Amino acid sequence: MTDFIAIDGPAGSGKSSVSKAVARKLGFGYLDTGSAYRALAWHVLDRGADTADADAVLAAVAEFPVRLGLDPDDRTVTVGEVDVTDAIREPSVSGAVSGVARVPEVREQVNTLFRSLVAEAPYPAVVVEGRDITTVVAPDAPVRILLTAAPEVRAARRAGELAGENAEAVAAALHKRDASDSAVVDFLNAADGVEVVDSTELDFTQTIDAVLAVIERIRGVHHG
Ligand code: C5P
Repeated sequence: MTDFIAIDGPAGSGKSSVSKAVARKLGFGYLDTGSAYRALAWHVLDRGADTADADAVLAAVAEFPVRLGLDPDDRTVTVGEVDVTDAIREPSVSGAVSGVARVPEVREQVNTLFRSLVAEAPYPAVVVEGRDITTVVAPDAPVRILLTAAPEVRAARRAGELAGENAEAVAAALHKRDASDSAVVDFLNAADGVEVVDSTELDFTQTIDAVLAVIERIRGVHHG
């Protein structure tokens, strides 16, 4: 059976880049669950609907031919024939995604997709990152980590990624999305048994090493 390495955290915690690097280093698969929510938000907008309209979201998820890979070096996401890899990172999608994420039926459907992708994965383990992986998608995962960072550090990192965007606008959009998202799942506090890695004072390499240390410690114990 493929193991879940579950990593949760807010936007700008370094979760995606760190999870991807850890997967690459260990030869594991990598699943960015946020990209499924983003692809669905893109799909709703592409149909000319509003993600605040739960009925429109449900209609869109009923016909949602999304494809996500597990290769850490290939983040291609498609919806039907359309490659949406870049489009789902646009601020218009980031601003709309919390609307789809708050619909319970949507969460159930994408969670089923995530579990089957991991179950069928051609890897010994898959690093799965999101908001509710440690608590809902894989609460029994052998390794569960919450990656956090101070809000101002997260905003600065995200502004650095989105070159050309106004830093204050980026920070405001990120805090708004955190507020909407944390009303749906608590990803700011660690559940019982979840290891916290705080990256506020760590650079990228140090964060990767901190996560690898947790994984090695726990898997070392499990595998004798
Ligand atoms: O991780 P990322 O910022 O790409 O996630 C995009 C959005 O998808 C989040 O703002 C949240 O609304 C939603 N999401 C979620 N549960 C997850 C992953 C992402 O609700 N496991």
